[in-house]
Amino acid sequence: MAVPKRKTSPSRRGMRRSHDALKVEAFHECPNCGELKRPHNLCQACGHYNGREIVSVGL
Ligand SMILES: [Zn+2]
Repeated sequence: MAVPKRKTSPSRRGMRRSHDALKVEAFHECPNCGELKRPHNLCQACGHYNGREIVSVGL
């Protein structure tokens, strides 16, 4: 069985993982209207949050 010759040092492991972090997306599509909205925020276009209308948008 092929086995690594040396133990990966904490420094090497950290260097490898330096690219693994998830990016924080500043905007996401609203599931209701498809408009771009900030995550965890009320949709400015349709007033929906978490699948229901919170604020009615006057038309
Ligand atoms: Zn929306």
